[in-house]
Amino acid sequence: MKVTTIGTGYVGLVTGACLAEMGNHVVCLDVNPEKIRVLNEGGIPIHEPGLDSVVARNVAAGRLQFTTDVDAAVNHGTILFIAVGTPPGEDGSADLQYVLAAARSIGQRMTDYKVIVDKSTVPVGTAEKVNAAIREELDKRGATATYSVVSNPEFLKEGAAVDDFMKPDRIVVGSDDEQATLMMRALYAPFTRSHDRLMVMDVKSAEFTKYAANAMLATRISFMNELALLAEKVGADIELVRRGIGSDPRIGYQFLYAGAGYGGSCFPKDVKALVRTGREYGQDLKVLNAVEDANDRQKLVLVDKVVARFGEDLAGKRFAVWGLAFKPNTDDMREAPSLTIIEELTRRGAAIAAYDPVAMSEASKVLSANPGVSFCERAEHALPDADALVIVTEWKEFRTPDFDRIKAELKQPVVFDGRNLYEPTLMKALGIEHHAIGRGTTT
Ligand code: NAD
Repeated sequence: MKVTTIGTGYVGLVTGACLAEMGNHVVCLDVNPEKIRVLNEGGIPIHEPGLDSVVARNVAAGRLQFTTDVDAAVNHGTILFIAVGTPPGEDGSADLQYVLAAARSIGQRMTDYKVIVDKSTVPVGTAEKVNAAIREELDKRGATATYSVVSNPEFLKEGAAVDDFMKPDRIVVGSDDEQATLMMRALYAPFTRSHDRLMVMDVKSAEFTKYAANAMLATRISFMNELALLAEKVGADIELVRRGIGSDPRIGYQFLYAGAGYGGSCFPKDVKALVRTGREYGQDLKVLNAVEDANDRQKLVLVDKVVARFGEDLAGKRFAVWGLAFKPNTDDMREAPSLTIIEELTRRGAAIAAYDPVAMSEASKVLSANPGVSFCERAEHALPDADALVIVTEWKEFRTPDFDRIKAELKQPVVFDGRNLYEPTLMKALGIEHHAIGRGTTT
């Protein structure tokens, strides 16, 4: 099939590359010429495990192209995915300007039947707005081309995006149109061969499903983070509690880790947008309001622990920070808890020596205005003369570090373990002062 993705970011690029892998001919469009230049020169503008080889293979096979040429891109695809950003607007609602601009750019050019797919995460009712924007553009130029708008929210996880796209848990298609549904089924058939995981539903339910999924996941995290705060006060260990409750299949083990708060390009904005949708419809979403509040507080938990240990004035103090990306296996810094933590520590006068396995380049852009931050090429280079080590992202390489070196290089052996990577008993045996989340402090 001929496919176009409008937007070549995390979602658009992965979607385009994985569809090309199944034999489709894909054109990926972006308004950012730099991104397209990098791709056309054989580079990958984001860090996503396994993506480079899929892209390279399909470019070489002539099935995957990158362009800034809107005419060519709209003309190419029979199925056009809109995969542009939907950042939060000032009031928390999803900002649809990029989605609607993409819709208009389709309406201004299309001459034959197209299936327009909302892949971006968009509030209930957006498909109608996309439909109206296209209709308006067609009417303006007196064109009569037919089209269908379907919703196909994306559930991939950054850091495992290629795998998630290739082996999806489910593919949700919101469609009120039989022809479009058939085409979506055909497009996704190679991804659901073992058993059918494609669910067709009405458009609004599909749009809602994506928000419901992210809101549920964010709720689990905030729930555990809040219990972790209490666990510390009552002297319980949240890790043992996690295992205790996760064993119940109704609860399950996944997404139950207490930590330094959730971040990223999805959970914060999607929770906000759903709360906002609730407000628009006169429905106060009490649980989700609390989920957001709890997360805002949780992003400060490590800072509170540092302040409790070293005092409010951190002038002259230096901290090694391991992990900057909002989660492992990505370079995405959007809404990363590390940003809040670093800002709060440097605001109190501290100097930060930061390290991340892949997000250094992104992080240095976002943190360039903060003179208190320096970047280190290797994790251990951040340690010398630091008053403590602060772990913010649970990269694998931090799981079994050289503890002797940590002890030797830090001014004093103090670790703030924002992802509960280390067993308190081991830390005690090693003589490391260990501040964990929901597990108390081991000295
Ligand atoms: P992104 O910022 O990485 O990519 C969006 C791209 O769209 C950018 O490269 C931008 O230049 C481009 N763009 C903007 N307007 C355009 C236009 N008119 N024409 C062509 N290109 C245009 O964003 P992302 O992370 O890929 O997210 C895209 C959407 O998918 C969002 O709604 C997001 O919520 C949703 N989503 C993201 C993830 C994720 O893990 N990143 C997962 C599921 C869903």
